[in-house]
Amino acid sequence: MTSPVLPSHGRVRPLGLAQVSITGGFWGSRQAVNATATLSHCESWMERLGWLANFDRVADGTTSPDRPGWSFSDSEVYKLLEALSWEWGRTGDPEAEAAIKRLTARVARAQDQDGYLNTCFGHGEQPPRYSDLEMGHELYNTGHLLQAAVARLRTYGEDELVRIARRAADHVCRTFGPDGRAGICGHPEIEVGLAEFGRALGEERYIEQARLFLDRRGHGTLRDIPLGRAYFQDDIPIRQADVWRGHAVRALYLTAAAVDVAVERGDDELLSAVERQWERSVARRTYITGGMGSRHQDEGFGEDWELPPDRAYCETCAGVASIMVSWRLHLATGDVRYADLIERTLYNVIATSPSPDGTAFFYANPLHQRASGRPADADEVSPRAEAGVRAAWFDVSCCPTNVARTLAGLQGYLATADDDGLQIHQYAPSTIRAELPDGREPAVEVETAYPESGTIRVRIMNDGLWTLALRVPAWAAGATLVEDGRARPVEPGMATVRRAFRAGEVITLELPMEPRFTWPDPRIDAVRGCVAVERGPEVLCVESHDLPHPGGLDALAIDPLSGPRAEPGGARVRGRLAAPPDRLWAYSGAAAASAADVEWIDVPLRPYHSWAHRGPSSMRVWLPIEKE
Ligand SMILES: [Zn+2]
Repeated sequence: MTSPVLPSHGRVRPLGLAQVSITGGFWGSRQAVNATATLSHCESWMERLGWLANFDRVADGTTSPDRPGWSFSDSEVYKLLEALSWEWGRTGDPEAEAAIKRLTARVARAQDQDGYLNTCFGHGEQPPRYSDLEMGHELYNTGHLLQAAVARLRTYGEDELVRIARRAADHVCRTFGPDGRAGICGHPEIEVGLAEFGRALGEERYIEQARLFLDRRGHGTLRDIPLGRAYFQDDIPIRQADVWRGHAVRALYLTAAAVDVAVERGDDELLSAVERQWERSVARRTYITGGMGSRHQDEGFGEDWELPPDRAYCETCAGVASIMVSWRLHLATGDVRYADLIERTLYNVIATSPSPDGTAFFYANPLHQRASGRPADADEVSPRAEAGVRAAWFDVSCCPTNVARTLAGLQGYLATADDDGLQIHQYAPSTIRAELPDGREPAVEVETAYPESGTIRVRIMNDGLWTLALRVPAWAAGATLVEDGRARPVEPGMATVRRAFRAGEVITLELPMEPRFTWPDPRIDAVRGCVAVERGPEVLCVESHDLPHPGGLDALAIDPLSGPRAEPGGARVRGRLAAPPDRLWAYSGAAAASAADVEWIDVPLRPYHSWAHRGPSSMRVWLPIEKE
């Protein structure tokens, strides 16, 4: 099976790249841009900045402590290798194959005799191996190497990359195993890498090593740092925690591994701990976009309800990691709410990051941009994650390769199978087939212009008795299912049809796509008195480009009594522009009087994922209200 995540058991089984193809549409076009532009873009930046040459320098004995790149730059090469491997598995593109061979050969030369592989530690004048577990990222890098090897193993088979990864994993097990050093990495990732590599190879000891790393965490195993041990989740054992905290990507990579270990070990206590953390974190610490991480200081989760739109960090990588967690939970439990969050995150975080041409990216994904960013220079490394514009590359450039690997393997997240049929969770023009344990082979073709349209036509490809289940998103109250020309209402959750299908017949799911107002919990102080507009799975926003004069976003309030109206590609709401008072002090003994000079206009909204496509702009998702 060619799937990024393959648990040995679970409520449903993932369908992989060999069973599912995205044939066009919203995600098909993004996969194509990823393939033709993003992958080579990433490689050329890593070459240009010397991150690839770091491997050559180790091999040639010319490395130094001040080598280019941060301690985690090796991981970008591995994430690119993972992306290329999924891409090759998806299309058989010979350029992807050539790039895999080219990069693998350079990585191979840098591996030490005993399996250790890192370009920042342990060679020449560099600090010794594992001398900075808190911030050195050595095991983190290795985790990404293992994930790359999983992609290669499942799409191609055993090759040099897989052999490198085996030697590296064995080195980790020897060094940090039960009889070794009782250390953990400051940035979780080795755990999820080991668990999946263990599953891919049938090597129990790698899964056991992942469990060991998980259980060691949360006991003050790492040195304390100014941000506190919660930053790297070493404050509370994962089984005892109630909510995600600290650095969001770290928390989520760790949690993904916890699901893997819980499933492989039949550890229900651990699984329910993760479900409990998901529930509270999604209810209280997650943005309407699915974005996670409210704090810039530590790229971390805030307290419950601490969700400021303008200071939202919402790192793109945290979106990727959130999908990793929810997908694993979905496979384990079959619970549709996990697929709901995946959809929200895909459309409003993952799709937001890359530019239409796939060569510039958002790192942070705020919900309110107060001042337009400065136009980005395509030839420049952005020093800042929160520049207000997409950047070609970053000083810390974790997000572009994370987007690349997610898009290249995206069809692996669309559908699942159980013993009686298949379940479709994400809608895209696609072909999907499954092999059931008793030999039945349900196969369908999905035709849709989703999310532009809410009509999803599922064409049955062969005769057979089985169950088709279609996810009805939580927002889709009023959805209908049409079979044999008869429509029936279906509730959010899974809409199922079980019968003897005939080849050629079509089941149609109609999701209501009228734009709608969405109100925040009143405890989210930062957006109290505001409303957002959503359409289908897309969060919409207002951009300064669409207002009659600059600065209009600060003068805008919308009328909640006049509901949003549909418009191709977005919506319109009724809003007023009133010049804010120009005062010497922002506070007053009396509430601000309504402005006299009020102009009522129709305000266009567009999908948040397309913001700043027309150049730098100011933007907001949450809109203040005022009745007309
Ligand atoms: Zn990132």
